[in-house]
Amino acid sequence: MTRPQFTRSVATGPLLIADDLVKHYKSRDGHGIARAVDGVSLTLKRGETLGIVGESGCGKSTLARLILRLIEPTSGRIGFDGEDVMALKPSRLRRLRRDMQIVFQDPYASLDPRMTIGQIIAEPLDIHGLGTAAEKRRKVEDLLLMVGLDRSALQRYPHEFSGGQRQRIGIARAIALEPKLLILDEPVSALDVSIQSQILNLLIDLKARLNLSYIFISHDLSVVEHVSDRVLVMYLGRIVEEGTATQVLRQPRHPYTEALVSAVPGARAGGRIVLKGDPPSPEAVPEGCRFHPRCPKVLDICRTTPPPAIGSAGGARVECHLFS
Ligand code: ADP
Ligand code: MG
Repeated sequence: MTRPQFTRSVATGPLLIADDLVKHYKSRDGHGIARAVDGVSLTLKRGETLGIVGESGCGKSTLARLILRLIEPTSGRIGFDGEDVMALKPSRLRRLRRDMQIVFQDPYASLDPRMTIGQIIAEPLDIHGLGTAAEKRRKVEDLLLMVGLDRSALQRYPHEFSGGQRQRIGIARAIALEPKLLILDEPVSALDVSIQSQILNLLIDLKARLNLSYIFISHDLSVVEHVSDRVLVMYLGRIVEEGTATQVLRQPRHPYTEALVSAVPGARAGGRIVLKGDPPSPEAVPEGCRFHPRCPKVLDICRTTPPPAIGSAGGARVECHLFS
């Protein structure tokens, strides 16, 4: 396989390339390893929304933190906006940090309760030393309006707001530095269903207005289908299927994706596929195909030999012996 080009064509190449990212932790008992992310390659085109789905514990948040370089990979490479992120000097990395922002799942935990909304949204501008006091005030007011709040919020504190409003505040803070990439890690999972669609619509609207690209992480397939251009399916630290949202969620190929899709309420024909066995642990990754102990279509080869990836990162891809 040829190595992706990290430093070519800054303006026209993909915004983000991850090449064989690995993050292993010491296991909790200290004797083994937890393979939280175990060889993930992906490509995010400019202006695209890439959905990432998979059960709790499959490595989605670890992958997000690796991409943002909040944690160091065990191995692998990241290219962002034409630069090799792993090779950047601290000053360039600092500049790059402005271009990648994250919105977390829990709008209660992610806002400092002792800061006013005005301070919370201005903080990234303060940290990066951007603008005079007057410019910052105007910018924060603009940001509040952009996320559907008004200036009366400025002097108030997070506890005075609902979950949906707090997530709007978290989004305002994340776009304050005019980033190129927003990673949304389960951004609506903690919200009531009626509020979820308001926040999703806000995100869709902001993406078009601000020329953003999104990585949208969720365990909820209907939410991911609603917002994503392409979808990656993660299982136990690896991408097992990739394609357009329609390909992956309407015509799933990997038996794991089939099971996920079949479990969506009011779902597709064919009935629900219930997976046998325990939810997997990254401290005990099975031999061969890591999905084989739970796979309804398991073959002999699956127990001994890891499946090859059919297709390529950025296109349609499935990692399963049924297609090799
Ligand atoms: P997800 O976001 O898909 O629910 P995470 O990325 O949070 O999954 O976690 C993936 C796996 O990595 C989990 O099994 C988790 O327990 C493990 N893990 C995450 N962080 C650490 C850490 N600092 N030390 C050890 N294991 C970790
Ligand atoms: Mg997570």
